[in-house]
Amino acid sequence: MRCVALLSGGLDSHLAVRLMQQQGLEVVALHCRSPFAVGPDRAEQAATCLGVPLTIVSLGDDYLDIVRQPRFGYGRGANPCVDCRVHMFSLARSCLQQHEAQFVVSGEVVGQRAGSQKRRDLDTIAHHSGLHERLLRPLSARLLPVTLPERAGWVDREKLYGFYGRGRRGLIQLARALGIDEIPTPSTGCVLTEPPFARKVFDLLQHQTRAGRWDFELLKFGRHFRLNNQCKVVLGRREAENHQLEHLHAVPEAGESTLLAPDGFVGPTALVVGPLTDQAYAFACELMHQFARKPIDPAGRVRVRCGDASYCRTLTPDPRTTAAQRNIADVV
Ligand code: SF4
Repeated sequence: MRCVALLSGGLDSHLAVRLMQQQGLEVVALHCRSPFAVGPDRAEQAATCLGVPLTIVSLGDDYLDIVRQPRFGYGRGANPCVDCRVHMFSLARSCLQQHEAQFVVSGEVVGQRAGSQKRRDLDTIAHHSGLHERLLRPLSARLLPVTLPERAGWVDREKLYGFYGRGRRGLIQLARALGIDEIPTPSTGCVLTEPPFARKVFDLLQHQTRAGRWDFELLKFGRHFRLNNQCKVVLGRREAENHQLEHLHAVPEAGESTLLAPDGFVGPTALVVGPLTDQAYAFACELMHQFARKPIDPAGRVRVRCGDASYCRTLTPDPRTTAAQRNIADVV
């Protein structure tokens, strides 16, 4: 008997796989790689450790549609967790036939995460993914209705668990009992859950209804300052981010943008996203000046490079277009 397990690489999914292996089931792991994942990808290491074959699926543009307009709403950030899980579990369902597997396993624990693991959310996910009773959550199965694998005798319900809530102590004890020595640290690994990032997402959705993958990718780097509905300026926070902005500006799928680099001073690179009007140019120069290491020029001149050309701009702060806008629209 074979099942497909959603494997994030965290403790819960690791345990779910191990419990199925203990019951003699063959497990095929599926990892869905989100464009908003941060930190090292732990799924490959977990699959190696568990000795299971792993399929990795990169979530694409249809996933961005979910972020734009989630049917079941957002969590505390811009994380559409219930929709996201419905999407991932639907992908797992579509793998069943390919792997000649009978059901899907996940490491969800009832009540562990407010945004997606309340009892009602688990029902929603099982229903809308089309899995229904072919979805088994071994860590909380004893708190949930009997599923097909239990009823059919493929899995012994008596050997499953009834974990509830956020506490990790019981899960860690179980991991030790199952011989798992390296306990993964808890992490959503998803930047959508972070409120500062969420502000950038919502700013993008508000001003660019046709934002694509490039626009979302750009959100991961730099400080973002909105000038108006058409234009924002992104400043690198460190050298690596300056290089990232250069790279994103150069890729073929880049949106309308202009790269400004400091000339003769140490400061951030600026990516002007949108039309480079004189107002946008002035705004970017002022921000580069403001975030430069040292005051650039007592006369308030700033020199920037754009492509092969170098330009000098004398800063003339205009209260209508600078301070007020920074305070209101700065979505760092
Ligand atoms: S935290 Fe991110 S990856 Fe995880 S379910 Fe929520 S939206 Fe999806």
